[in-house]
Amino acid sequence: MKQSVKNLLNMVLFIVLLFINFSFLSAQTDSLQFIYLANTNAAYENCHCGYNPLGGLDRIGHLVNEIRRKNPQVVFIDGGDFTNSYPFDELNRLTIEIYKHLKPDIMMLADQEFQTGNRKIAPSLSKLPSFLLASNFTFKDLPLKPVKYLSCGKAKIAVLAFLDNSSFWYVKPLPELKFSEQKFKKNFDTARSSSDFQIVIFHGEEAGLSEFLHKFPAVDLILMAHDQSQKDKLSARPPIIYAGADGEYVTLFTLRFRHRNFDSIRLTKIPVSLKVPADQKIEKIISDFKKVQKKAN
Ligand SMILES: [Zn+2]
Repeated sequence: MKQSVKNLLNMVLFIVLLFINFSFLSAQTDSLQFIYLANTNAAYENCHCGYNPLGGLDRIGHLVNEIRRKNPQVVFIDGGDFTNSYPFDELNRLTIEIYKHLKPDIMMLADQEFQTGNRKIAPSLSKLPSFLLASNFTFKDLPLKPVKYLSCGKAKIAVLAFLDNSSFWYVKPLPELKFSEQKFKKNFDTARSSSDFQIVIFHGEEAGLSEFLHKFPAVDLILMAHDQSQKDKLSARPPIIYAGADGEYVTLFTLRFRHRNFDSIRLTKIPVSLKVPADQKIEKIISDFKKVQKKAN
């Protein structure tokens, strides 16, 4: 097939995916749409190093702008590990600059952000303009908050974030990070008594998730992070949504409620391929970064 025909088919597919998601949204008043990312691992641009989609925060920026333009109420959540798994200061500083521009509504920070090698970038984390969510941990001097409440018609949704400390198996956490499962239990109980639906961003591995759900079986929806699978389990109880890795896909999902009761989820994964244009402001941040790196080397 000719490349131009392939490009055209890809654009048509993207428009159809968005249309399906937005028509679901507009058909119901008690619906709320979410963008979900995690494990973007500082993949700031397409590496041209294999088969598409290969992601790129610059292209994700374009998709996020398009989605927000069509639906300003969309809630953009990032589940953490947005910096690189290696403590490369310059790369991780660049990623924080890009995220200041992407502005997720809710962000969770995790092992890749809190590893000991990231001592120098830790103060920059407080400059992220998002609601920084942490329900079972604290980090000295970071403005973390335990629960984020959202409205969807008459339904109230609570979003919490649980960082499984076993996700630090490969690296030591910074000493300012303190865990408390008791704190999570308290936050979860408060959320259950003051909302109709509870979402937990669970940052950890599958084994840790089973243990967590054994302790907290009443969770209504899990947004999985750290684990890099991208196979969603929508018929599981609770349903589990995965983000994949390196920003190869943007997960777009819509929750629908009837009379405050959860009704259904509609989910689409948008491939972040070379067919998606890059956001110009992020492109500029990256080209400035490359100029500085070139001079330094
Ligand atoms: Zn992680």
